[in-house]
Amino acid sequence: MPDRAPQPVERRLPTEESRQLIELVRDMVSKEIAPRAAEEEESGHFPREVFTLLSESGLLGLPYDSAYGGGGQPYEVYLQVLEELAAARLTVGLGVSVHSLACHALAGYGTEEQRAAHLPAMLGGGLLGAYCLSEPSSGSDAASLRTKAVRDGGGASRTSGGDWVLTGTKAWITHGGIADFYTVLARTGVEGPRGITAFLVPGDVGGLNAAVPEKKMGMKGSPTAQLHFDGVRIPDARRIGDEGQGFAIALSALDSGRLGIAACAIGVAQAALDEAVGYATGRQQFGRPIADFQGLRFMLADMATRIEAGRALYLEAARLRDAGLPFSRQAAMAKLFCTDTAMQVTTDAVQVLGGYGYTLDFPVERLMREAKVLQIVEGTNQIQRMVIARHLAGPETR
Ligand SMILES: Cc1cc2nc3c(=O)[nH]c(=O)nc-3n(C[C@H](O)[C@H](O)[C@H](O)COP(=O)(O)OP(=O)(O)OC[C@H]3O[C@@H](n4cnc5c(N)ncnc54)[C@H](O)[C@@H]3O)c2cc1C
Repeated sequence: MPDRAPQPVERRLPTEESRQLIELVRDMVSKEIAPRAAEEEESGHFPREVFTLLSESGLLGLPYDSAYGGGGQPYEVYLQVLEELAAARLTVGLGVSVHSLACHALAGYGTEEQRAAHLPAMLGGGLLGAYCLSEPSSGSDAASLRTKAVRDGGGASRTSGGDWVLTGTKAWITHGGIADFYTVLARTGVEGPRGITAFLVPGDVGGLNAAVPEKKMGMKGSPTAQLHFDGVRIPDARRIGDEGQGFAIALSALDSGRLGIAACAIGVAQAALDEAVGYATGRQQFGRPIADFQGLRFMLADMATRIEAGRALYLEAARLRDAGLPFSRQAAMAKLFCTDTAMQVTTDAVQVLGGYGYTLDFPVERLMREAKVLQIVEGTNQIQRMVIARHLAGPETR
């Protein structure tokens, strides 16, 4: 039996335009992203030029309003684009998802004036964004964040001017140190979720410094760094939403962001399955292709079934979002199921390739290392279970 070449994923897309979009992405992936992925991930190179190309092609603002330079695409289309990108290289797929997360606050909660001033450059002007919620001592318990923003001058309203002075440290920031803008959540009032406000911070502002990027298990091409805010002055015109509204804005961004993570996870899992099928149909043992053995056939069947189930789950959540219906519970479920699927499927793919799967000669070990981070970011999978349980049983009593 010959190696089976991977077949493109069959996609049910809503319009001819979205079908053409997926074709454009597949072409870009095969020419510009996939050929360099393994080498650049090994060397830790961030492909900024790929993000510039994505921006020029209208792929960095896909789910946002075309009136502000976005692509005006439904979420179900945007997520399938992310899946295609992440299958080739998670650094790119997740990078696009994080950029989109960073645009969410301004697009959803900014004033008309703020959107007109900043969104076009963010969505299609070549800029790259980052989202700053986590801190060294507040991860899952994000509402306990300590980075402070204190008013200096001006009155209490946006039009009366005045600055905010930001001091503190953000941790684990994807694109930290290389982003052009940061959506930052900082404490402006009481302890807890009601004392947090969102700000749009330019990357080149004085007093903002990035630490040396973390040395990570995977996604080595994607810089993750601490950011130090040492008296960073931000005009009130860059405050997004009301004072104290920041945590609600952050959670709303995460509902959508979690769907991005789910789609990336299915891309990683699909890439691992394609490798496993290709290998199993080519590799001979006991005088037959190993894909003849029921032990492996059933493993491949289970991998493929989990992937289809995950894809259906994230697409259903996206279609609820596109219809303007609540989707927070389904987004948490999709993030949980799709990222657990990616971990399981990539681990199984290493097993299908045997010893070769454990080497850098095949991409499955990289995919397995990449899958792990998806169970951690944008709310760990324990936190997703808490979100889902709250929808079912209400808040915990203590
Ligand atoms: C590569 C990478 C990129 C990232 N990018 C960003 C970014 O761009 N922006 C950003 O803001 N953050 C980012 N993060 C941070 C990420 O969101 C946090 O790591 C995550 O929220 C977990 O926080 P923590 O690491 O502090 O773990 P902790 O919150 O300390 O959790 C440690 C363990 O305890 C568990 N746990 C905690 N509380 C509970 C509970 N109540 N019940 C059950 N279990 C619990 C967790 O599930 C986890 O297993 C990134 C992280 C990584 C690794």
